[in-house]
Amino acid sequence: MSLTKKIIIALILGVITGIGLSFAPSSLYGPLDTYLLGPVGQIFLNLIMMIVVPIVFVSIVLGTAGLGDPAKLGKIGVQTILFYMVTTAIALIIGLGIAYILEPGKAGTFDTSNVEYESQEAPPIMDTLVNIIPQNPIEAMTSGNMLQIIAFAIFIGVALAVLGEKTIGIYRLFEQANDLLIFLVNAIMKLAPYGAFALIASAIGDAGLNALGPMVMYMVAVILALILHGAITYSLAIWGIGKGSPLKFYKGFFPAMSLGFSTSSSSATLPVAMKTAQENLGVRKSVSSFVQPLGATINMDGTAIMQAVATVFIAQVYATSLGVSDIVMIILTATLASIGTAGVPGVGLVMLAMVLNQVNLPVEGIALIIGVDRLLDMLRTSLNITGDAACAYIISENERRKEEKANLT
Ligand code: ASP
Repeated sequence: MSLTKKIIIALILGVITGIGLSFAPSSLYGPLDTYLLGPVGQIFLNLIMMIVVPIVFVSIVLGTAGLGDPAKLGKIGVQTILFYMVTTAIALIIGLGIAYILEPGKAGTFDTSNVEYESQEAPPIMDTLVNIIPQNPIEAMTSGNMLQIIAFAIFIGVALAVLGEKTIGIYRLFEQANDLLIFLVNAIMKLAPYGAFALIASAIGDAGLNALGPMVMYMVAVILALILHGAITYSLAIWGIGKGSPLKFYKGFFPAMSLGFSTSSSSATLPVAMKTAQENLGVRKSVSSFVQPLGATINMDGTAIMQAVATVFIAQVYATSLGVSDIVMIILTATLASIGTAGVPGVGLVMLAMVLNQVNLPVEGIALIIGVDRLLDMLRTSLNITGDAACAYIISENERRKEEKANLT
């Protein structure tokens, strides 16, 4: 049986088991989660996380060196950032639209009398931008600061391209390191069905599905907006700009999406997302290795959708109306907030606190949605990494066509 099929079965079994466990008595679920599901899921997660920093570093160095011309990298960089910004803004508009239509904040009575939420400090955007260049690249790697790792790798890649033959030894070393890491990714992926099953069953079991109550409408709004964004925005972009088939794209990228779903982390899914885009969608290595790691950090459309719906939801619960300037503010802050925050589970809530602050809504409102956030995190992470892959696919296809055209003339 193919790995994709195994993962699909694991997904389905994980969801069913999780739903069953969320209704099971805690005397059964507790030990099962502590001694079986939790450790199995965590071991799998650790295995893929282990590869993230080395593979991002090595593949960006190779990708940049392979492009040869730094100007080309600049062009791809501009296209990538433009794509990320525009699709995130569209995601926010879809999220806001759906939230206004479905009015999840009016779907029941919400007790706001003693809700509490301690918001974490999010880094100021200017600091993030200035600190993209790391003072200490080794520290950037140990702390997993993706933007800094990307910046350092680009410097090394450009230097390798400029020095050419002189540094061919180091270049070959990177090539071999890349082969080695891909080998490890393939080996770890063989465990994906078991890891995914454990992670999903544990996350859904934890969520307490029996206590969703009036939050169901909020969940429906987020999920609907996520589906619309994937089905319309990305499909149109893949078909209109990339001249490809959205159906083939989704079919090919599914293994990575299911891993995003089970890990709730764009960063952890990165090695598999890159491999899947390169092997199943034919995205060029030089494009994929640059566009996708960047996207895992700065592009989170699924998270943007949650923020849009959550902001309107909280405004409705607290009976506050948002003006046009507030809506513009939400779009701007949510787009910018995603740049400085890494794709790890739950980070969307940190970003949401920034957005709520901007439009003077009570940050404690987050306490209302926290209970269902883990489940939505799974879905939105899937969409987050799909947006990155769609961008890589479109840029890669356009590059290929341009070169073919140039070769013909
Ligand atoms: N878990 C998401 C990601 O890694 C971020 C979030 O929405 O919390 O992409």
